[in-house]
Amino acid sequence: MSDYIAHHDYRFDNLKERRLADILSGGPWMESVCANLYALREKNEACRACEWFGHCGGGCRALAILDSTEKNGKMDYFGCDPLACLFYKGGWYERVKERLKAYKHI
Ligand code: SF4
Repeated sequence: MSDYIAHHDYRFDNLKERRLADILSGGPWMESVCANLYALREKNEACRACEWFGHCGGGCRALAILDSTEKNGKMDYFGCDPLACLFYKGGWYERVKERLKAYKHI
């Protein structure tokens, strides 16, 4: 992932370029590290409206970055994870749940 984001001209903060106090006061690194589900819902209309958000939580951030970059040429840390959409919206969650009913721990 590090090489992928660097290849697309996205960089997190660098201690050789910014003071630690400044980095911890705000910027791309802090925005990523402190991102939570509330922020994701605020910034992602599809996830906000999705009935599966409580289970999915927007999915994997790495896949969201990869997908948004490949589709739009712009990296979106708060985009949707396409595989999570496929799994939940495509009915796979329900299918797996149904199949696992026979197991005691599910
Ligand atoms: S299934 Fe897709 S749209 Fe729904 S919460 Fe997950 S990533 Fe967002």
